[in-house]
Amino acid sequence: MKRLEERICTDGQVKAGGVLKVDSFLNHQMDVKLFWAMAEEWKRLYAGCGINKLLTIEASGIGIAAIAGLLFDCPVVFAKKGKSRNVSDDVYSTQVTSFTHGGVNTVQVSKEHLLPEDRILIIDDFLANGAALDGLIDLVEQAGAVVVGAGIAIEKAFQPGGARIRARGCRVESLARIASMDPETGVQFC
Ligand code: 5GP
Repeated sequence: MKRLEERICTDGQVKAGGVLKVDSFLNHQMDVKLFWAMAEEWKRLYAGCGINKLLTIEASGIGIAAIAGLLFDCPVVFAKKGKSRNVSDDVYSTQVTSFTHGGVNTVQVSKEHLLPEDRILIIDDFLANGAALDGLIDLVEQAGAVVVGAGIAIEKAFQPGGARIRARGCRVESLARIASMDPETGVQFC
């Protein structure tokens, strides 16, 4: 998606350790008009797929998924990190290794919000090693629901998550795919 790629080139900052900082429009300050354009793209790509629910993970996925929910006209569920007392014991639960912070988080969704008849589109901001997406797919499968696919804003295609998850048969639509990036030379797209 040209508009997202251009925004990454203009406002993204490549940090050491393979981290792209996009706090000015995606991860901290949010450009919701850009989110709407991203949602339109996912809506076009997944037209006719019968999606009835969006699933994301806190925190950075929530803003993007919420705007997409307006366009898909369906509920948006976010997986909660940690064993929250606000969520009942009746939860689907999985473990996710955090790319940005290291460490393992328990993530969970209340069973009442993921149903066997659901056809789910998973939304997230980044795809890197694929741990977050693996975890969300696991939650959907525990519910006996269908993962129609994933809508990712930025895929770092030089990391193995995207190839691995596509190879297991999950459709992944990433709006910007980064082939390589470097603090000196910037970002190259696929
Ligand atoms: P994965 O689980 O695929 O390794 O990483 C995906 C998660 O880590 C995303 O939910 C995102 O929050 C975070 N992440 C991974 N790479 C980056 C990055 O380069 N920049 C930022 N801002 N977040 C990232």
